Amino acid sequence: IDPKLQQVTVFQGVQRRPTILEYDHLVIALGSGSDLSKTPGLSEHAFTMKNLSDAQLLRAHIIERLEHADITRLPDVKKGALTFSVIGGGFSGVETVGEIKELIDRSLLDYPNIHPSEIRVVLLEFSKRILNEMPEGLGKYAYANLEKRGIEIQLGVGVAEATGTQLVTSQNEVIDTRTIVATIGNTPSAIVANMPLSLQEGRVLVGRDFRAEGYDNIWSIGDCAVIPLKENATKRGDFAPPTAQFAVREAAHLSLNIKSVIEEKASKPFQYKSKGALASLGAGRGVAEVFGLKLTGRVAWLLWRVYYISLLPGAQARVSVLWNWLMDGLSRRSVAQINSQTDPGTRYVCYRAGDRIYENGSRADGLYTIISGAVRITSMDSETGLEKSRILAVGEHFGELMLLGATRRIATAVAAEDTKVLVMTQQEFLKLAEGLPFFNDYFSEHLKASGLGDKMESIK
Ligand SMILES: Cc1cc2nc3c(=O)[nH]c(=O)nc-3n(C[C@H](O)[C@H](O)[C@H](O)COP(=O)(O)OP(=O)(O)OC[C@H]3O[C@@H](n4cnc5c(N)ncnc54)[C@H](O)[C@@H]3O)c2cc1C
Repeated sequence: IDPKLQQVTVFQGVQRRPTILEYDHLVIALGSGSDLSKTPGLSEHAFTMKNLSDAQLLRAHIIERLEHADITRLPDVKKGALTFSVIGGGFSGVETVGEIKELIDRSLLDYPNIHPSEIRVVLLEFSKRILNEMPEGLGKYAYANLEKRGIEIQLGVGVAEATGTQLVTSQNEVIDTRTIVATIGNTPSAIVANMPLSLQEGRVLVGRDFRAEGYDNIWSIGDCAVIPLKENATKRGDFAPPTAQFAVREAAHLSLNIKSVIEEKASKPFQYKSKGALASLGAGRGVAEVFGLKLTGRVAWLLWRVYYISLLPGAQARVSVLWNWLMDGLSRRSVAQINSQTDPGTRYVCYRAGDRIYENGSRADGLYTIISGAVRITSMDSETGLEKSRILAVGEHFGELMLLGATRRIATAVAAEDTKVLVMTQQEFLKLAEGLPFFNDYFSEHLKASGLGDKMESIK
C-alpha cells in the first residue's frame, strides 16, 4: 500500500499481474497467519487446523493411519500409527482432539485388527487448564468429558521437538506418533507486519472507530487490528478479541463509520460485548456460555450446531451440512476417502539421533541431502561380505541409486545426531536436471565421484 499516493497494488490471476487501485478509503482486514518454525520439526511435520482443507487433509491422514495399523505386522509402526497428538488446549485444539477421538471410535468397526486399547489420543496444553477463554467450570467439564472418553490430557506441558515419527514434550517424554496437529503458533499476517503504519506486534494500531493511527482514511478491523474497546485501554480484556463474533460486528460498524465520514459526519466508537462462547467436544457433547448462562453436555452441543449452521452462507450449504450431520447421527461414520494422500513431493524431514531414516530392502522414495546434522550409512561390502559404514555430513547426499531407477535400498541410513534432510523425488530431480544445467553438471560429477559412473546421461 502507498498511503501518500492513496494506492494499493494487487497481484491478480494466474500470471499475478499488478493492478494499481486508487482509494479514498482503505480497509485492511487481512486476518492472521501461523508460524510453527519456533519449535524444531513442527512446521515440517505438524498438521495445522485453520480451514476446511486442513480438516479434510487431517481426516484423510487419520483414515490412512487406521488402514495401515490394521495391516502392518510391525508393532512399533502400529503403535506410532495409532497415536494421535494435538498441541494446544484452546478452542481449536479441544474441538480437534474431540473430533479425532470420535472419528476413530466410530471407525474401529471397520478395522478388526485394531483393539480400542491400542489407540492413544493425547492433548498437550502449556498452561494449567484447557479452554482458557471460557469460565473455569466449563474448562473443568471439558477436561473431565475428554478424559472419560479416553483422551489423555497433559497440562503444563508443551512441545519441544517434532519429527516424522516422534513428538518430544517439554517434560522430555518421547511420544511415538505419526499424527501431530498444531493449533498453536498464531502470528500476525506477514503482509500487515510490513505495512508503513503504526503497528503493535505486527497488528495495526487503530482508534476506537477503527481508523489507523495517524490516518483519516485508512481503517483496520478483525484479527489484524489492535482495537481498543474503551478509552486508555491497557489490559488484554480492554481490546477486541480475535474472533469472528467480533469481526463481523466490527465490519458492520466500520461501514457505518465510513459512510458517516463521506457524509462529513462524525464517526462513532465501536462497542460490543461478547454474547458468549461455544465449543464442541465431539461425541454429541459441548460447553457453552451464552449471555452469562453456562451450559454443558448435549444441550451445549446442540446449541453449537444450531448456531454454526445458521452462520453458513446460503440455503444450499445449510441444507447440505444439516443433511450430512443428520446422516452422521443416524448411521455409521464413513471412512470413505474423499481426497486420498498425494505424493508428498520435495520436503524437509527431521530425525532425532539414532532414528532410522531407511533400511536395507526398503522401497526407495527419494534423494536425500543433509541440511543439518550427520547420517551414518551402513551397507554390505560386495567383495568381502563384511558390513561397512561411513558418516555423511551437512551438504552431502545419499540414496542416489533411486535416481538410477533402483526401487529398493541397498544400505541402511541412521541419523548419527539430530538431523534435518531435504528429500527430493525422482520426478522433481529430473525436472531440475533438465531445466538447470548447473544442477545437472553438479550431480553428474557427484555420481561419478560416488562410483556410480557416468549415469547422468542414462537417467535424463
Ligand atoms: C480453527 C478455527 C476456529 C475458529 N472458531 C471460531 C469460532 O467458533 N468463533 C469465533 O468467533 N471465531 C472463531 N475463530 C476465529 C475467527 O476465524 C477469526 O477471528 C476471524 O475469521 C477473523 O476475521 P478476519 O476478517 O479478521 O480474518 P479472516 O477471516 O482470516 O479473513 C482474512 C481474509 O484475508 C485474505 N487475505 C490474507 N492475506 C491476503 C492478501 N495478501 N491479499 C488478499 N487477501 C488476503 C484471507 O484469504 C482471508 O480471506 C476460529 C479460528 C480458527 C483458525
